[in-house]
Amino acid sequence: MERETPMTGNGHISITAETVLESMTDGFYLLDDQLRFNYINEVAENLIGQSREVLIGLSIYGVFPKLRESKVEQQMLHALQMRKSVEFDEHFGNYGGWFRIKMTPLKNEGLAIYFQNTESQKQLEQKLMQFAYCDFLTGLPNRRKMTEIALSLKEKKRKFSFFYINLDNLKFINALYNYSSGDNVVVSVAQRLQQLSDNRCHIGRLEGDEFIVIRESEPGERLEIFAEKLMELFKDPFLLADYQSAYVTASIGIACIPYDTERLRDLVACAETAMYEAKKEKGSSYAFYRPKMRSKRERQVLIEKSLMGCLESSGFYFTVQPQISGGGTNLSGIEVLARWNHPKLGELSPLEFIDIAEQSGTIAHLTTHLLHEVLKVIKKWEQLHGWNIKTAINMTPSLLANPVFFEEFFNLMDHYGVKPSLLEVELTEHAEMAYSETTMRNLELCREKGVSIAIDDFGTGFSMISYLTQFPINKIKIDRYFIRKIGEDAKSEAVLKSLIHLAQSIDCELLAEGVERPEEVLFLKEHSCTVFQGYYYDKPLQIKDFEEKYLLKPSLLP
Ligand code: C2E
Ligand code: CA
Ligand code: CA
Repeated sequence: MERETPMTGNGHISITAETVLESMTDGFYLLDDQLRFNYINEVAENLIGQSREVLIGLSIYGVFPKLRESKVEQQMLHALQMRKSVEFDEHFGNYGGWFRIKMTPLKNEGLAIYFQNTESQKQLEQKLMQFAYCDFLTGLPNRRKMTEIALSLKEKKRKFSFFYINLDNLKFINALYNYSSGDNVVVSVAQRLQQLSDNRCHIGRLEGDEFIVIRESEPGERLEIFAEKLMELFKDPFLLADYQSAYVTASIGIACIPYDTERLRDLVACAETAMYEAKKEKGSSYAFYRPKMRSKRERQVLIEKSLMGCLESSGFYFTVQPQISGGGTNLSGIEVLARWNHPKLGELSPLEFIDIAEQSGTIAHLTTHLLHEVLKVIKKWEQLHGWNIKTAINMTPSLLANPVFFEEFFNLMDHYGVKPSLLEVELTEHAEMAYSETTMRNLELCREKGVSIAIDDFGTGFSMISYLTQFPINKIKIDRYFIRKIGEDAKSEAVLKSLIHLAQSIDCELLAEGVERPEEVLFLKEHSCTVFQGYYYDKPLQIKDFEEKYLLKPSLLP
């Protein structure tokens, strides 16, 4: 038996059905076979703004004159001709925005029309779309949106470039100050980038410290001019929380479609590879992608992965380089220099892997591993040879700014039973190593425990004077750059003399690094610098060689 429907062929509505229709939150009306209003509920009445007494019997075309040749009319005729329900969304500005409309043909060729105002739902959808496509911190388009922009440019066969921008020192700002300072910087970078925005330029934030600019190409355009403009944006310091400010630099990698690659996925990788190349330069810089960079990036990724793994069995070891005093006969200290004979890449320069460790956040893992090995050896020498000389370990800025690393350092000394007075930490004079509470606390802790502090590569950094006044320094290591100039030109010799004088005036021990030639030794001694480290005396030595030369011939020990 066929189920009874509320709407019968003659448009008669049973009382229960009518109650239901009247209490519906959707609008509803019935049209007869001539498309005249036959029934209309209260919601529809209110929306149309006329009472049902007026509307019943009127043609729908009379009530909605704009219906003719509209999309709604097409749908209506389609439903009537095909005798099939249709459902669609339509925007009616005069009636409060978006509506979901459903039209169902009736047995007697009339039409039932339901409609629901979906404006607030649409707005919500749009908001969700915004969240999905927009970076919450800066309001810039996010990775997904930028991908869509790039895809649509590619579909239109446009030429364009990716400028992949990575902030070099955001993690230091987060570590040295706090995360809200880091956020301030990110927001300011976004604002500065937007100054360059125009209709060919799309600016977005990928995540963390990474921004991207997609720039549509113009014939004859020189991309380096735009890259220079980007770098200009980083010239002035950024305001942090609490009225402090800091310099932030950016490394920019550039790759172009179709010049460098035809594929979007490769374009991102190319721009990122170029960005890593730019990172090798100090301060803000940019680099265009070159095919030979690819292998360098792959090498870097391999090193990064190895750094995260177990270093014990990976060919990682250390050498020591003697520090000589007393006319060239006494051993006054040693410096630990990390080495890595990588299973796949062979012998790596510490400059390369230390930098990668520092950038990838694995430096604490590496240095802790190194400390285990070094402390074991020191303890053995103490027991076997009465070893009582300082061993210097190189520390990077992020270790200094690390709130837990130094605690572990002291725990390890306890664990191996090595006195703190047998250790020295070397800090590189580095632009990034700014004054912060954590750094200061770590250095104070070293001083309290009796670990001495040396400034490495002295004279080459930016913040020489602030170091000397802010940090508790015991030793200054004059960089090889100045030593090399001895005998070459009088001006450099004068600079070296003033550096020596400066160190002496603040009562620091002094050491000359990278001493290679006898005339260097002579000049330095003449100017009261009497501790040396360099090939003239020894290259960095493997432990076995060091033991043979210095420990098994006790005359060389002081
Ligand atoms: P650095 O701390 O300035 O170390 C001195 C560098 O100069 C060493 O290079 C050493 O082999 C080299 N050297 C010493 N005497 C001479 C000389 O007379 N002539 C010349 N031309 N070079 C000399 P190395 O071992 O390649 O290390 C390079 C840098 O890597 C180090 O510079 C240091 O900054 C970093 N490094 C090495 N090991 C470690 C480590 O365990 N931790 C950290 N954080 N950095 C390390
Ligand atoms: Ca050093
Ligand atoms: Ca050095």
